[in-house]
Amino acid sequence: MRKKTQLIHGGITGDEKTGAVSVPIYQVSTYKQDGVGQHKGYEYSRTGNPTRFALEQLIKDLEGGHAGFAFGSGMAAITAVLMTFNQGDHIIFTDDVYGGTYRLVSKVVHRFGLEASFVDTSEVENIEAALTEKTKAIYVETPTNPLLKITDMKKVSDLAKDKGVTFIVDNTFSTPYWQNPIDFGADIVLHSATKYLGGHSDVVAGLVVVNSEALAEEVHFVLNSSGGILGPHDSWLLMRGIKTLGVRMEEIENNTREFVEFLQSLPEITNIYYPGLQDHKGREVHERQASGSGGMISFDVGSGERADQVLRNVKYFTLAESLGAVESLISVPAMMTHASIPADRRAELGITDGLVRVSIGLEDIEDLKEDFLQALRK
Ligand SMILES: *Cc1c(COP(=O)(O)O)cnc(C)c1O
Repeated sequence: MRKKTQLIHGGITGDEKTGAVSVPIYQVSTYKQDGVGQHKGYEYSRTGNPTRFALEQLIKDLEGGHAGFAFGSGMAAITAVLMTFNQGDHIIFTDDVYGGTYRLVSKVVHRFGLEASFVDTSEVENIEAALTEKTKAIYVETPTNPLLKITDMKKVSDLAKDKGVTFIVDNTFSTPYWQNPIDFGADIVLHSATKYLGGHSDVVAGLVVVNSEALAEEVHFVLNSSGGILGPHDSWLLMRGIKTLGVRMEEIENNTREFVEFLQSLPEITNIYYPGLQDHKGREVHERQASGSGGMISFDVGSGERADQVLRNVKYFTLAESLGAVESLISVPAMMTHASIPADRRAELGITDGLVRVSIGLEDIEDLKEDFLQALRK
């Protein structure tokens, strides 16, 4: 089954009992047992719910994994995966990892004795240098947020296999439509499904896909123990969003490429970060492991003041955190998504005050160009 077909026919589709072509929303907490322990596969909805299960089967199929799990947010999914590790374990993270992940690792799970190093994983040597006897996992985002840095997943997975550590990839930016980390050796794939998978700015959700039964048991054990599950209605909304992922990603790709060309023509704009650009560092690696470049672009407008001016004056770009929606979104990472990263670390990473990040949506690209230009030159 090819990707676009899989988006519609993957996982569990419809309802055998009634012929409904959409999976019913099983708004239920508990299930009648015929005798003690005699049930039809469901006992209690924290442990399992048929609507959530349909979504979990779908994401498992889309990522080519062994099992999928749905959580109440991307952060809940990431938390659950981190909770499969033990006190004293060490994990190596991509340095410009999602701000919320950095906060979770450095301020929350740190309290429970999970150790972390943050390195530029776009050079595998940096990972090698950070490995210790206690390293149990390598956690990567590719492309990263907001600088779109690329990590070679095959190289990292070879290293991870050699050292016997788990390889985790947050695949939020590329989605399973463009990139399947398990094909390149990842053991665990994470998604903030709030972004492209949901796609309509109307649901917060997180997904985990694992590549083995052992990992499936561990993640399900934590899911059931800690309870950060996705509800049935949101599971259904997410499946509905995923059905159109293909057409959305294709159109977003076209719009984004055109917007990048337009940015290149503006003298005010410097440092355009976009994996599809000929001179983007890591472009070749990205093209090997992903079939599209996505809808995220970051670029420098020169100063925090000018960034503020652009953000105040755009009409079709919505000033908001988040990404991956039908509406184009615009943000200033230094003041918004990455504000929880200390200023000196932000500077180290190249997240300047004038860095603007856009998530291109599905509006007419001519309107987006005109809108951006009037806000820039106001
Ligand atoms: C948004 C995001 C998260 C967090 O997901 P939520 O659904 O907001 O909890 C994690 N990783 C990446 C790359 C993200 O963009």
